Amino acid sequence: MSAHILDGKAIAADLRKTIQAEVKTLTAAGQRPPGLAVILVGDNPASQVYVRNKQKACEEVGFLSELIRLEADTPQQALLTLIDTLNQREEIDGILVQLPLPDQIDEETVIERILPTKDVDGFHPYNVGRLVLRMPLLRPCTPKGVMTMLDHTGMELAGKDAVIIGQSNIVGRPMALELLMARCTITVCHSRTKNLTDKIRGADIVIAAVGRPEFVQGDWIQPGATVIDVGINRKDDGKLCGDVDFTAASEVAGWITPVPGGVGPMTIATLLENTLQAARLHNDKT
Ligand code: NAD
Repeated sequence: MSAHILDGKAIAADLRKTIQAEVKTLTAAGQRPPGLAVILVGDNPASQVYVRNKQKACEEVGFLSELIRLEADTPQQALLTLIDTLNQREEIDGILVQLPLPDQIDEETVIERILPTKDVDGFHPYNVGRLVLRMPLLRPCTPKGVMTMLDHTGMELAGKDAVIIGQSNIVGRPMALELLMARCTITVCHSRTKNLTDKIRGADIVIAAVGRPEFVQGDWIQPGATVIDVGINRKDDGKLCGDVDFTAASEVAGWITPVPGGVGPMTIATLLENTLQAARLHNDKT
């Protein structure tokens, strides 16, 4: 194996320590701790795990954390009314509605109801628009976490060719905007992209966010390239794997993220970072 491992678990642990220290400083100065409200509608098993991990992380750094569970058949209006209440509450800095939502609820309507300064997922059109305009406020957690990891490689990003596989609103698109803001030349690929492997072979940085187990092959990777694997997939044997064939790709890449222990922990640590940022925004106003 030739690649350096980009250890998301360790980078996320450092980030959490820094956040914990900042919370201590805030509370020692008589300020309240940052507060995050997480809303879970229904009982999707994966969502329950994500929500539990987010809550645990909040408690560890000293945030106020509130989990609100709603029945799967909750009407949209009831969720909107709950968001209105949380928007008003002083001690809540961040509101996160765990996706996906049941069919009777429209995700866009719900996301737009969250106050942009409390939108710690960074999905509100206001926050996405600010990212497009290179004046980001609250930034989507997974792509922002990837940028923190890239920073740890010490590599100069400006001028690099980056290929992003996947164009979803939560990963691919904001990832492209982040890398463009860092002055990479970006290519966004998706299910209709022609000659995908040629595009990947020309990339200095490959971001895989496809949702297909071990889709990206080792011989698609340019020697020395940085490979960021966002995918989280479960194999038939129950084990987790990414969107990249890790064993083969790590023979050629310069840097590579493992799954698990790569982008996943960074997403949660970045959510904490965003909640702290939102708390600062609110404290500055008062
Ligand atoms: P999505 O299903 O919304 O998007 C997948 C994208 O892949 C689409 O844009 C699609 O066009 C593209 N695609 C599908 N087949 C393709 C092909 N053959 N060639 C090229 N492109 C193709 O998924 P998502 O929400 O963006 O998530 C992607 C993966 O990342 C999933 O495995 C998900 O579980 C994972 N994820 C991880 C984290 C994390 O914190 N690590 C966060 C979010 C998502």
